[in-house]
Amino acid sequence: MDERINLLGLDAAAMADLVGQWGGKPFRAKQLMRWLHQRGVADFEAMTDLARDFRSQLAARAKVATPPVITEQRSSDGTRKWLFDVGQGNAIESVFIPEDDRGTLCISSQAGCTVACRFCSTGHQGFNRNLATAEIIGQLWHARDVLAADQGSARLPGQGEGVEAAPAKLISNVVMMGMGEPLLNYDAVVAALRLMLDDNAYGLSRRRVTVSTSGVVPMMDRLARDCPVALAVSLHAPNDALRDELVPLNKKYPLAELLAACNRYLEHAPRDFITFEYVMLDGVNDSDAHARELVRIARQVRCKINLIPFNPFPESGLLRSPAARVKGFAQRLMDADVLTTVRKTRGDDIEAACGQLAGDVKDRTRIKERLAAQRAAIPIKELRA
Ligand code: SAH
Ligand code: SF4
Repeated sequence: MDERINLLGLDAAAMADLVGQWGGKPFRAKQLMRWLHQRGVADFEAMTDLARDFRSQLAARAKVATPPVITEQRSSDGTRKWLFDVGQGNAIESVFIPEDDRGTLCISSQAGCTVACRFCSTGHQGFNRNLATAEIIGQLWHARDVLAADQGSARLPGQGEGVEAAPAKLISNVVMMGMGEPLLNYDAVVAALRLMLDDNAYGLSRRRVTVSTSGVVPMMDRLARDCPVALAVSLHAPNDALRDELVPLNKKYPLAELLAACNRYLEHAPRDFITFEYVMLDGVNDSDAHARELVRIARQVRCKINLIPFNPFPESGLLRSPAARVKGFAQRLMDADVLTTVRKTRGDDIEAACGQLAGDVKDRTRIKERLAAQRAAIPIKELRA
């Protein structure tokens, strides 16, 4: 068995501990982090400013490993999607979305998800397992490596001290909006967030790293203390009755508690608003009455509402709200002075859009059973009434 430690899983404190245990000075840990994350170097022999013995020790006891890539797809709009193998038939996905002024990488935190939201294809596949920090950071490491190579600044083997770091800023933003509920994999996610922010690693600003949550209230409070980054909350319904059906976690943490947690978070947040995500489902949550209820919610928390056109997948039994309805709904919110944006759908042709990430290689038996159980629990007609 391979017992070498995967260095991609270590934040600054863990790296300093390890290097210390091996008899190294603290600055060695920083040098190593810079080689790994800033320059994307995985070959210890190429880390020329590290002492030869230290390099041999690393080669014997450590490794730099991302989850193996199963496929990479490119959309006609420049969006790229990677499917990674995380073992035992499970796969996870990451998506890179280039825009004029920024590059956003959307990454996964779990294989599957326990929250089982009605409109989410990850939720429909059931829960497989939490990802380790190395698997979360591995997605960023890999994307950055590929993008840097594409820019013609690919690393050369054996590159030395004076070599320019590859332009890490190709990825200026990271959003934890891929597969899984990040706040239900708290420790591994926080270590990964710390690496994203670390100046010796990815050096991203707190405002450009976003955790998206379905509303795990106690963990929102912990995140505010441990590692406050930008926060998006998946709202999707403006009242408890409907949210209970769409986001089952609402039964545990209902809206009043969630909104109070948002206000507590804002005291620590790097941005002065929370983003509320609201997926537009035809005939389910998109009426004028829903818009009025949503305005009442928006008045309780400093927020921006991001309307997401639903990305349909066959098993959901749900439909996207027509474009005119999305526009009308957005207008009602804006008329009430609620900051509102409508999310552009990217990477449609490669199923890279929100909620379409389902790690396509799994055994689907469990999903079918789950779906049947869910359908039995809430007939669609009732949901849409
Ligand atoms: N579990 C976290 C983060 C991952 S989901 C969360 O729920 O916030 C990221 C975003 O994609 C969430 O806002 C989610 O509600 C949205 N989403 C899920 N399925 C979708 C679909 N089929 N179409 C559009 N957006 C979807
Ligand atoms: Fe899980 Fe988020 Fe999908 Fe809900 S929307 S099932 S919380 S990944």
